[in-house]
Amino acid sequence: MGDSPVEDLYERVRAVVAATADAPQSGLASVAPGIRVLALRTPTLPPAAHTNVYLVGPEGGPVAVVDPGSPYPEEQAILDGLLSEIPISRVLLTHHHADHTGGAVALAKKWNVPIAAHALTAKRLAGKVVVDELIEDGEVVHGATAVFTPGHAEGHLVFEVGEVAIAGDMVAGVGTILIDPDEGDMAQYLASLERMRDRDERVLLPAHGPVITDGQRKLTEYLAHRRMREQRVIDALTGAPKPLHALVETVYSDTPRILWGLAERSLLAHLGKLEREGTARSVDGGLWSR
Ligand SMILES: [Zn+2]
Repeated sequence: MGDSPVEDLYERVRAVVAATADAPQSGLASVAPGIRVLALRTPTLPPAAHTNVYLVGPEGGPVAVVDPGSPYPEEQAILDGLLSEIPISRVLLTHHHADHTGGAVALAKKWNVPIAAHALTAKRLAGKVVVDELIEDGEVVHGATAVFTPGHAEGHLVFEVGEVAIAGDMVAGVGTILIDPDEGDMAQYLASLERMRDRDERVLLPAHGPVITDGQRKLTEYLAHRRMREQRVIDALTGAPKPLHALVETVYSDTPRILWGLAERSLLAHLGKLEREGTARSVDGGLWSR
């Protein structure tokens, strides 16, 4: 089992869902001016099976390496092979999840470079990964501007290079983004999506799947989808108080039953938001109502 609720959930989903949707490239590919990508196999949420590692910097280096997430030595060796010819300056982490940080310590040790992340990510990683440099909202690190975008994870950062954003787990090129109430916050997530849209991020480089060339449209779609889901939650709360499993059946009737365990976490994140806003309340015995 993994170390956190999200990793346990990912593991449970991997047991029933095939990870086949993404086809990673075999080597480094240029995805934007000054940004290259390498997809490495990671224990992530299917159908994704890889995490994109982004190299930010000129062709001959030095580069900052974003999210070296693979815990597998044979995958780490591919990255090390490339970095034997491209000097590395530091490791940047978008957030604390294991499929983004699993190779960070090995990489930083091998090349003797610091690991940088938001303070809340550093806190979540305490005991597992030592974060040497704390990055705040708006800080420019290695030519990339850090944008604080909590929600999927409390210390999530997006790294902007011009109109291009290394988006971490804010959006996905393949699969979906899980908001787990123990790891993140639905209201924050929606606010962070709005923040990215308002900053005019045009090209999004997700951690899983291919480049998203129409970033604005994707962010608008994500916001609409989450608001649609929230409305379904509000509708389902009408009438007599209901248990969580009954709400999942109604709100996620369009989602395959095997994913309802995951859907339940997402539903709890929605309910938490609505409860704080005064639209939902939990009553005795784990029932929910308006
Ligand atoms: Zn994540």
